[in-house]
Amino acid sequence: MYKAFLIKYGEIGVKGKNRYIFEDALVKQIRYALKKIDGEFVVSKENGRIYATAKTEFDYDEAVEALKTVFGIIGICPVVQIEDHGFDDLADQVIKYIDMAYPDKNFTFKVNARRARKNYPMDSMQINMELGGRLLDAFPEMKVDVHKPEVLLQVEIRNVINIYSVEIPGPGGMPVGTAGKAMLLLSGGIDSPVAGYMVAKRGVQIEATYFHAPPYTSERAKQKVIDLAKLVAKYAGPIMLNVVNFTDIQLAIYEKCPHDELTIIMRRYMMKIAEALGEETKCTGLVTGESIGQVASQTMQSLYCTNEVCTMPVFRPVIGFDKQEIIDISEKIGTYETSIQPFEDCCTIFVAKHPVTKPNLGIIKRHEHNLDEVIDDLMKTAIESTEKILVHA
Ligand code: ATP
Ligand code: MG
Repeated sequence: MYKAFLIKYGEIGVKGKNRYIFEDALVKQIRYALKKIDGEFVVSKENGRIYATAKTEFDYDEAVEALKTVFGIIGICPVVQIEDHGFDDLADQVIKYIDMAYPDKNFTFKVNARRARKNYPMDSMQINMELGGRLLDAFPEMKVDVHKPEVLLQVEIRNVINIYSVEIPGPGGMPVGTAGKAMLLLSGGIDSPVAGYMVAKRGVQIEATYFHAPPYTSERAKQKVIDLAKLVAKYAGPIMLNVVNFTDIQLAIYEKCPHDELTIIMRRYMMKIAEALGEETKCTGLVTGESIGQVASQTMQSLYCTNEVCTMPVFRPVIGFDKQEIIDISEKIGTYETSIQPFEDCCTIFVAKHPVTKPNLGIIKRHEHNLDEVIDDLMKTAIESTEKILVHA
């Protein structure tokens, strides 16, 4: 019965002269999301409203699911749009709408009419009263409740008339593309896809870097990261995934640095390389899935040492979350099942039995000097040989 959706978006941060940037980005993201489903939609912006109107048959549930992935949307309202052919016709259409939308009429309701166009011959109060009366005549089981109605029937008189009563919550946030670009360090774990999702939710476009160490990490492990990027792209839009061959750097660290400091030193090089790749494409921040105290490499002292190599800000959206809280989000966004597939992480083989939990930056730096002769070339090679994969949802 529905051919269109009225899209509601938050007002915060949307006021003033930047409003159109927000709206245009939202329209673009809605188009992107709806392109993936069967059916053709026209997405349009009219007087502070965004509509997605179907031009062909479509699957309602599929369309709602797609819209639920678009950041910036706070409400998805399936709407019936009619032309103005006088009040009697409006009343008939409203009765028809209620009859179709609610097979069981045993509910309380309230009509909320609004006129965006003041030349309509009745004012809002009159429309509320009159429509309410006609609905009660048509369906005597319905009851009016002006304070806590179960069904709030919205009737908006514009150039067309919008009739709707259902508002499905959207994901909130800001449309992707309204807040610059960041480089996500994406591993095959649970945390980093969630971190990427959370930053994208604030409107940031995401690029990603994965450190691959063949033959120590398999093609399956790499495919898992591509699959995760694909899942995050459902929300974040297409993601350019940089796959860096990290093997030689890891081997050099393994050979020349104390084993209990391997992870920290390795993480420092990951951050440096991700930053270099991010600079090439105008990213202005790095994103990781680190959470304080989760593992030895994420104690405050370890984070201090890892962070020290970066000049870009490093965003860690899950820093204060417990593992279970991160898992809950990953289940909600659909990355969990993929994240827990048992393919070896970058460096399981290189992980020390007893990694330092309180690394000392001075000592770490001293040990890094053992790499002086080789590291510049290795970094250069790793960066230049990066494989770039554009990942679409
Ligand atoms: P995750 O579940 O995100 O893998 P983790 O608990 O395994 O996190 P670490 O392995 O210490 O934690 O990694 C911390 C962060 O460093 C990750 O969240 C990710 O942002 C980044 N990272 C770790 N390994 C890699 C890798 N191989 N490629 C890209 N980024 C990585
Ligand atoms: Mg990991």
